[in-house]
Amino acid sequence: MTDAALHIDPGLRRAILEAVASLRAENEALLARLVRHPSTLGNEQSCLAEMAAAFRGAGLAAWRVPVDAGALADHPGFSPPLIGYEGRDPVVAVHRPRNKVGRSLMLQGHVDVVPEGAADLWQTPPFEPSVREGRMYGRGTADMKAGLAASVTALRALSLLGLQPAAELQMAAVIEEECTGNGALAAMLALEKPDACLIPEPGPGYSALYTAEVGVVWAWVTVTGRPAHVREMHLGVNAIEAATLIAASFKGYEETMNAQEHRHPVFASHNHPINVNFGTIEGGDWNSSVPTRARIGMRIGVMPGHSCREVAREIERRVAEAASDPRLSGATVRTEFKGFMADGCVFPAEQAISRLVTAAHREVTGEELRHYAAPGLTDARFYVLYQGTEATCYGPDSDNIHGIDESVGLQSVADVTAALALTIAGWCGLEAVSGEASRSK
Ligand SMILES: [Zn+2]
Repeated sequence: MTDAALHIDPGLRRAILEAVASLRAENEALLARLVRHPSTLGNEQSCLAEMAAAFRGAGLAAWRVPVDAGALADHPGFSPPLIGYEGRDPVVAVHRPRNKVGRSLMLQGHVDVVPEGAADLWQTPPFEPSVREGRMYGRGTADMKAGLAASVTALRALSLLGLQPAAELQMAAVIEEECTGNGALAAMLALEKPDACLIPEPGPGYSALYTAEVGVVWAWVTVTGRPAHVREMHLGVNAIEAATLIAASFKGYEETMNAQEHRHPVFASHNHPINVNFGTIEGGDWNSSVPTRARIGMRIGVMPGHSCREVAREIERRVAEAASDPRLSGATVRTEFKGFMADGCVFPAEQAISRLVTAAHREVTGEELRHYAAPGLTDARFYVLYQGTEATCYGPDSDNIHGIDESVGLQSVADVTAALALTIAGWCGLEAVSGEASRSK
């Protein structure tokens, strides 16, 4: 079955696996270099430059694609940004074959990482990669700098054999996967529509093939209360307490959306796919003053089949209802949407790219690839929802992404890199590197 699915002869398969194995140290070194860039929101520039150099080092033409918020604003996949885009243009890179015989492929990844959280709780500093017992620790190791390194290394392995894809191979290193997706949207619109998109996002504690993901809305609720000295507390409206009351009303949303009748079938056996997270709170001025203003930042999951805009209206309705509580009388409440306005998406396991990745993973590991319906979101949705392109995610085993001591399993990174190389070979086909290109090596 493997042979039929992969369409690569056994000798070549072995050669590809050996070439990838010979690059293991190089792959891990690239991963470590990427992790050393603390590429949180607004600080992605140096990591983007590192990726541009890595793409060029793998023989790709690489260039920057600006994220023009004005031009993208009317696109249905656009999310309201949190900050401006100056100076942090995503990188796209393209290989064009001499003779196009195969199918084109986009291998995309994001350089942005979420903040490290309480740095003092990390066993080793979050942006100093550290290897312990076969795992590399550091913010972004799994989510998803390992996937970026693996994509580049997979292509490098083919070129070691004097081979290159016999179809267009696109790669992209984007920003804001963790808050809007606008970087991926800009990159997608800047390139020709590929025949498939594969994003090496990590699996949940094991290598996995994504079969679906939820949508997400980011909402910000600002409560302005009535200030008072605590000795006349009854005269004031405590904005922090008011914000907490509003937040509590969202438990009902979670219960409703996780009820069987609202579930998309792909999430039927999932524990709790739709989550509401209160991620940030700010407010108050002084321990002895009733706080005037408080703002909470929420992340609200959206079940596939429900639109994010419909959920945004539901959020406004729930906030208004909670604000009508007599305990909040005299307070004003404002709801804003900045950050994710993203619909959920299904990635059918039967689609051609998913079947090929499954066969490649089986070839490398001897194991069946597990399916994962993700309660979080990725950039893969853009290709499916707005371009009609097959897309999915498949990546290495991760631990504590978005948490403390994030790590990735290095054997799993090696396996995923090998599976990506086989996937490129099986999807795009291979041709000999041109005379000129091989002389310049
Ligand atoms: Zn990610």
